[in-house]
Amino acid sequence: MKQLSVIDSLQHVGQEIELQGWIDSKRDHKKVIFIDLRDRTAKIQAVGDESLRVLSPEDVVKVTGLIKERPERLINPNISTGTIEMEIKSFEILNTAQTPPIPLDTEGYDIEEELRLKYRYLDLRRKRMAETIQLRSDYIYALRQELNSRSFTEVETPMLTKSTKEGARDFLVPSRLQPGKFYALPQSPQQYKQLLMVAGVERYFQFARCIRDEDLRADRGFEHTQLDLEMSFVNREDVMNTVEEMVKGAVKSVGGTLQQEKFPVYDYADAIKQFGEDKFDLRTEEEKKNGVLAFAWVINFPFFKKVDAADKAEVADGKSGWTFTHNPFSMPLPEHLDWHMKGEHIDQIMTTQYDLVCNGFEAGGGSIRAHKPEILEATYKIMGYTAEETQASVGHMLEAFKYGTPPHGGIALGIDRHVMVLKNERSLKEAIAFPMSSSGKTAVMDAPSHVDERQLKELGIEVTEQG
Ligand code: ASP
Repeated sequence: MKQLSVIDSLQHVGQEIELQGWIDSKRDHKKVIFIDLRDRTAKIQAVGDESLRVLSPEDVVKVTGLIKERPERLINPNISTGTIEMEIKSFEILNTAQTPPIPLDTEGYDIEEELRLKYRYLDLRRKRMAETIQLRSDYIYALRQELNSRSFTEVETPMLTKSTKEGARDFLVPSRLQPGKFYALPQSPQQYKQLLMVAGVERYFQFARCIRDEDLRADRGFEHTQLDLEMSFVNREDVMNTVEEMVKGAVKSVGGTLQQEKFPVYDYADAIKQFGEDKFDLRTEEEKKNGVLAFAWVINFPFFKKVDAADKAEVADGKSGWTFTHNPFSMPLPEHLDWHMKGEHIDQIMTTQYDLVCNGFEAGGGSIRAHKPEILEATYKIMGYTAEETQASVGHMLEAFKYGTPPHGGIALGIDRHVMVLKNERSLKEAIAFPMSSSGKTAVMDAPSHVDERQLKELGIEVTEQG
């Protein structure tokens, strides 16, 4: 195993050590040749004789050499090992590299997306991307610590499941053993996390992959990562406060700067009046440049909205012409529960939903849930479901709620978005190791792709039209 990282060389001045990594660059001064040796921790300048001429950028090497203090005038303040260099005694090439098809020593924003994603494993070597991957890991670690210190329990939920109604289309997975039947990939763990509340878990979390067949936009893929959590015996403010404290703690521990210590709370109607939308940006121009994070809450959303006729998923959900704005499993505000149960003043019923916004993006959303079967039934009735249709859709939830279900609520935070704003990036794709291209193609691997006739046969599937 590699014993020392490049950054460790600072502790070994005057000693001969072995380092392994990539050739970041080479400068040929005829009799002496300089290379910069790079690993995930740092770069170090190394100097040797003409034998280094065979090396090319991105070759992987093992070098042994003496770590020396640099004379004052040769100190390079731009790299973390700028006070030292290595005098190479010997080296071994572990693997040679062809010239990379994309430049790696730039920020990379100007390279065509398809090319960056085709060679994502190279694109991720770029300093900016390597930093983001590390930041993402550090942020998730910090959130996990916040959750653990508040006695949350991590639970995994199935990936092969049934339609979960988050307002998008499902990705379907055909069943081989029951031809003609399908699983759906989860749009979120919503129903399972609520079932965990019925089970008595009380405080659940999961870093969950959510898969939604939405119309692609430049900045959206089919899958995203949520920090999904749910709590029992709480009200709206309890969840908001817990989440706010956790997010603040995690943001600070990765060096993020918050605009406000207490996140301001806006009424949905006021936000629309003031900003024209419910995802607003509270930062000044100066704060935008400095990567400050301006979080805020939005509450008091309408529970229902008129179905958008152009949205097929909405049309399917809202049989009466009404569908949910956020989440069908939400509880209405207590003062509107009576209307809800009677199906009156539908346009005025407000939900307990809370959205967390940050820098103009939706950074999370959740609600207190309808934990009694009759309230969930009333929601589906307003959407025009018959008793049988409601039973077919959420009968398992109605059944579960009959066995002593604590009042509960939760939230899901969009981790990709959080990392994007923490790093002051403009695209979600910059925050994900292997994002999907804007045209829906997977990074590096060429999916979706055709499959064998034999595989289709096994599944009892016949493709009638090929795009
Ligand atoms: N399941 C919801 C979503 O994915 C979030 C929540 O209400 O907890 O948007």
